[in-house]
Order: sequence, then C-alpha cells, then structure tokens
Amino acid sequence: MKAVQYRTVGAAPEVVEVPVPEPGPGQVLLRVTAAGVCHSDIAVMEWPAEALPFPLPLTLGHEGAGTVAALGEGVTAFAVGDAVAVYGPWGCGACAKCAEGKENYCLRAPELGIRPPGLGAPGALAEYLLVDDARHLVPLGGLDPVQAVPLTDAGLTPYHAIKRSLAKLVPGSTAVVIGAGGLGHVAIQLLRALSPARVIALDLGEAKLALAREVGAHETVLSDADAAAKVRALTGGLGAQLVLDFVGAAPTVTTAGAVAAVEADVTIVGLGGGALPVGFGTSAYEVSVSSPYWGSRGELAEVLGLARAGALSVHVETYGIDDAPLAYERLHAGRINGRAVILP
Ligand code: NAD
Ligand code: ZN
Ligand code: ZN
Repeated sequence: MKAVQYRTVGAAPEVVEVPVPEPGPGQVLLRVTAAGVCHSDIAVMEWPAEALPFPLPLTLGHEGAGTVAALGEGVTAFAVGDAVAVYGPWGCGACAKCAEGKENYCLRAPELGIRPPGLGAPGALAEYLLVDDARHLVPLGGLDPVQAVPLTDAGLTPYHAIKRSLAKLVPGSTAVVIGAGGLGHVAIQLLRALSPARVIALDLGEAKLALAREVGAHETVLSDADAAAKVRALTGGLGAQLVLDFVGAAPTVTTAGAVAAVEADVTIVGLGGGALPVGFGTSAYEVSVSSPYWGSRGELAEVLGLARAGALSVHVETYGIDDAPLAYERLHAGRINGRAVILP
C-alpha cells in the first residue's frame, strides 16, 4: 500500500510502498477514507534528531477516518464496513486518566512506549491504518469522513480547551482566538455554538481573517504589534475572559497575556515555544495560564455530536495521497485555508 512517511530528519515527507498490516487480537484494520494534515507534523519534522522521541521512518497522519476492513480476534463492537473516526491520543486504557477516557493524559503511555498514530505509531496517511484497540474508534454516524476527520484533532483539541473555560464565557464576555487556521477556524465555530461570547480572531493575512469572519468571528484583527491595543479597545479596555493561542510563539503569547482580562484563562495550544510569565505587575489579577493537549474520548464523541447537529463546518482542501507532500509544503508556507485532508 502507499504511505506518506517522514524518513529522514529535516527532509520532506515521501510517498512510499509498505506492506498492509494485519490486525492482531483486539486490533482493527481500517481502509482509510480521509486523513487530516496538522501543523504539529511540521513541528515534529523541524525537531533535531536527538529530540525525536521515536524512530524513523514514520508514517504520518494523526487525524484518521476509515471503514473497518478487518477485525482482530476478539473484537465484537464493530463489523467490517463500519464507518469510523479514530481517537488519536492512545493510552494504556487502564490507568486512572484512561479510566476517565482521558487517554491524552495517560499516566503510563511514555513508560509503555505507547504513542499516537502518526506521532510514533504508523499513522493514517496511508491506504490502511492499524488501530491498536477498538476502544479508539468512534462511529461516524452518517458524517462525511472528509468533513469529520479534522474534528479528531482540529475539532477535539479546541473543544477540550474551550469546554474547561465555558463558565467564564458569560453574556457580555469576549473570547480571543489567535491563529485562525486548522484548529482556530473550528475553535471560532465551537465558541459560537457553545457560548454567548463575542469572538475576536487574530491572524496574519486577510485570507485567514476572511475565513474567520465567514465561520463566525464577530471581529478580526491583524496580528501585529498593535493587535493587543486594538483588542483592548474592542473590549472597552477590559480584555478577554478567554484567550486561545493556536500559535504559541513568543509574540503571540505576549499578545495573549496583554489582552487577558482579570480572572481570564489564557490557553496556549500552539507549539510555538513561547511562554507566558504570570505574577503581580506582570499579568492581570488571577489569570490562569495552561497548555492543554488534545482531548478525551468522550469529548470526541461530543464534538462529532455537535457536527451532526449542524453546528460545525470544516473548511477543507482535499489532496490525493501522491500530493500529500505538497499539502505539507503549503501548510508550512501558511497557504492552507482551513484544513488539508488527504484522500488515500
Ligand atoms: P495551521 O497552520 O493550520 O494554523 C495556524 C494559524 O496561525 C495560521 O492561520 C497562521 O496564519 C496563523 N499564524 C501564524 N503566525 C501567527 C501570528 N504571529 N499571529 C497570528 N496568527 C498567526 O496550524 P494548526 O494545524 O491549526 O495548528 C495550530 C497549532 O496548534 C500548531 O502549533 C500545532 O502544532 C498545535 N497543535 C496543538 C495541539 C495540542 O494538543 N496542544 C493539537 C493540535 C495542534
Ligand atoms: Zn495535530
Ligand atoms: Zn493510561
């Protein structure tokens, strides 16, 4: 089968031939119908060899959807032909966090060498994907896999980041979204569906700001050195109750801190390497800063439920598997609007 692999540190991904895997006991083989391309892969491909926590080659793709092609021994919850989405942050399934469905925070995954598909285990950018356990599958329930596949990360990650702050998003409140890309343009829709907050989106170019408005942002601001002052002005000087930073670089976390209201949540989702100091004279009173990772199994089911209710519309650019390297190149150059989805 064809697979898109990251094979050499610092080099572009390549389309190669690899054997179709066979499901062992408890595992499920999917014929991949759609796989999303996430900016985290770009970050991983920029790490030096000594920082890579897994060996190469690696089949990329941590957003996956497919139809069940074969069942390993003992799997009874699914049947061949079922259409499913894959919950990506695999855990051990048995620790206290996994018991809550929070496999993204599995207490034993590092020690057991368990890694998500596409981020250590062979990923979804291939014709077939081996899923290690049937509990990592969520039925699509009629959703179009191309539209739904980004929801497994570009939907689930902002959903988790927003849900934990909903109590702060009362009527009259403001939420700021920095970076209206794959995750950010879904975050704007989630904020509109789940809260009465006014949404202000920041990005670098007019195409991204236009998409932000199209998907529900009330205001858009160019992300430059004046952005914080503009957001402050739009909020009558008070700032925002929730700031979601989908870039996470030094300049954006500085903006995030500068627009945070008293008692705000500043949530850094992007892997840009920035950090935000908090302290008297440095930040507004009682600001909470956090850096959440992905989301829980239950939250993925909730996000798919929201999509089924018609609340989410992912802006998708599709590519054949041979063009996956081009999709990565375009993502790296900031030229994807919404999410790139590969159809293997
Ligand atoms: P993306 O490239 O689709 O979107 C990023 C957006 O940020 C783009 O629209 C880009 O124009 C914009 N941007 C870049 N620099 C900016 C700046 N200085 N100010 C404002 N906007 C700027 O990427 P994505 O796939 O949506 O991922 C977003 C980030 O989230 C990445 O860093 C990714 O690694 C990270 N991520 C984190 C998690 C997690 O669990 N924490 C999960 C998925 C992705
Ligand atoms: Zn991702
Ligand atoms: Zn666990």
